[in-house]
Amino acid sequence: MAGRHLVVAIDGPSGSGKSSVSRAVASALGAAYLDTGAMYRALTWWLLERGIELSDRELVGASSVLAPLQIGLDPARPTVEVGGVDVNDAIRTERVTNAVSAVATNLEVRADMRRRQRALIAEGLGLRGAIVAEGRDITTVVAPDADVRILLTASESARIARRARQDHGTDDADTVAATHSRVVGRDALDGTVSQFTAAADGVSTIDSSELDFEQTVLAVLAAVADRVVVDGF
Ligand code: C5P
Repeated sequence: MAGRHLVVAIDGPSGSGKSSVSRAVASALGAAYLDTGAMYRALTWWLLERGIELSDRELVGASSVLAPLQIGLDPARPTVEVGGVDVNDAIRTERVTNAVSAVATNLEVRADMRRRQRALIAEGLGLRGAIVAEGRDITTVVAPDADVRILLTASESARIARRARQDHGTDDADTVAATHSRVVGRDALDGTVSQFTAAADGVSTIDSSELDFEQTVLAVLAAVADRVVVDGF
């Protein structure tokens, strides 16, 4: 749409459903879509492929700026490539999920990612006039001046059950127990460098514990409509 300029920032913990919800919201708005978690995952995949010791914070920080990440912003097909290799599946494996927080808590990495993410947000605005960017620190650090800022939360039990179903296809007691420590542990580590459990000033909270996927998408779209002078959306 000519002349529109809309940045929607969505943060939330693991299992809040923010990736699928943000993607659907971006599609509904005809906006670009940026999954910043995929960037941390892609960097982690690349470091592991190169055999870099993730506890070597100096080397990891210095390597980050060299990582050849290519991120596609189309919500219908959000591509993630490293040096031309499609890593969309590889970055969702347990190996990467278990390692990503060690990389994401490196402050040099965060500075590099923040720079790249701001450039991608500008690119998305250039392409579509609007972008939905999601992660852990988008509302607070990457795009604190976003037009719409949302913290998407859900109760711990709802998030763990969702993750169990997503990763293992079931939320029976054993699977939930195994998923619990991974979700809680990752959030605890991620929470040392980003604030995503309570909404910062000016950030609206949407609790999806009792909402299904479509209801959550509608709640986010309503928050966008609330905050933005509606211009044909
Ligand atoms: O959202 P997702 O689970 O894909 O994020 C993967 C990891 O990337 C998180 O566990 C966190 O370590 C990191 N991350 C971050 N800041 C963001 C987005 C993701 O630190 N804005």
